[in-house]
Amino acid sequence: MIYIFISLFLAAIILFIIILRSKGTGENKIEKAVTTTKEKKKKPCPICGSLLESHEKVISHEYRGESSSVVHVFGCPHCYGNSAHLERICPLCKKIMLPDNYLMGMMTRGEKKIQLKIKGCVICAGK
Ligand SMILES: [Zn+2]
Ligand SMILES: [Zn+2]
Repeated sequence: MIYIFISLFLAAIILFIIILRSKGTGENKIEKAVTTTKEKKKKPCPICGSLLESHEKVISHEYRGESSSVVHVFGCPHCYGNSAHLERICPLCKKIMLPDNYLMGMMTRGEKKIQLKIKGCVICAGK
């Protein structure tokens, strides 16, 4: 009688572990899927590198030319303006950019895509 009880007890434990494991992996899969789709939507700021939410925009000025435009990128709300709190670093020369410094880029408009090529900050792109 004791043996039957022990084997039943063991079976219950094994079943409990299987249920826990299947639950755990299922939850992990869902979590991973959610974070990857979120990361895809977020675009990094070229100056401070913070991932931007859809309502956070990079402040830039576009000087339109015939086939391409010159773009001056000032930064996102995290690194430019009144609420700036992050260090501004040029992605090309890796030097700290002053608040009045900006990135210079070239924007070309293709039939389907708009391409922005960052040339550098005022100091390194101007050389
Ligand atoms: Zn930024
Ligand atoms: Zn630079």
